Amino acid sequence: NEDQQLELRFMPYGEKQLLLLARDVSQLHRVEKMRRDFIANVSHELKTPLTVVRGYVEMIQEDNDFSDHWSRSFDTIEQQVTRMDRLVQQLLILSRVEVSGDSEIRTMVNIPHLISALVEDASVLNKNKQHRMSFDIDETLGVMGNESELKSAFANLLVNAINYTSDGGEIQVSWQRIGDHCVYQVCDTGDGIRPEDIDRLTERFYRVDKSRSRNTGGTGLGLAIVKHVAQHHNAQLHIESILHKGSTFRIEFPAEDSFILGENYPHQQS
Ligand code: ADP
Repeated sequence: NEDQQLELRFMPYGEKQLLLLARDVSQLHRVEKMRRDFIANVSHELKTPLTVVRGYVEMIQEDNDFSDHWSRSFDTIEQQVTRMDRLVQQLLILSRVEVSGDSEIRTMVNIPHLISALVEDASVLNKNKQHRMSFDIDETLGVMGNESELKSAFANLLVNAINYTSDGGEIQVSWQRIGDHCVYQVCDTGDGIRPEDIDRLTERFYRVDKSRSRNTGGTGLGLAIVKHVAQHHNAQLHIESILHKGSTFRIEFPAEDSFILGENYPHQQS
């Protein structure tokens, strides 16, 4: 039947024979799809009430001259609504990228342009932290892909570097062609990650230090999104880190998906 999905696996059987194992995974896939649809629907339904609450809180704060106590209370409500809003946004992005997402919509993406927009947004976040940021961007290098997915993934790595580095640290962002790959890399001198945690970072809601992540407004979904976006683009996510020294997150795209920006734009790179 059309809906039926089988998982086939060959296993050695004796010296010269192979055993073919067939497992019906249709039910498993149906349940998985229901889970994803449910999360996407709930997140979508939460968007409107959150926008309304945020609107009223802002209006009340603007129109009244409250005592310290009330003004602190409203600030807390606003912060929590912002956190929930971010969680809902990230859940919606994740439920989109967990399936094929929008990745069928592929265009020639001007990556240097995308990075400079992200850096501008991140500068607000970096204001209090005062990190020194340096850039090594190949202004002529673009890649075929889904722009909004790439934007989410690149932003998550940059925001994490800012958040998980103590004030006054160093962050390097680079976008370069290296051998057979086009590499987006974010390197920080931050908290670092233990080797045993590295493999689990891309799991949904996995956070090394929950309270630290919450304080930074983290949702625990950022790297799960990065992993799926990388998969959609036939790219590899590499994480290297030394505890208390810093981390490097790298996404390596196949060079055959790149093209040269500028005069010839949008001709593909050979
Ligand atoms: P969060 O929203 O909590 O930041 P992520 O999925 O983006 O979720 O990251 C998962 C966890 O990985 C974080 O909670 C943090 O513990 C760790 N992490 C991510 N990026 C870095 C980094 N640059 N330096 C140190 N730890 C990091």
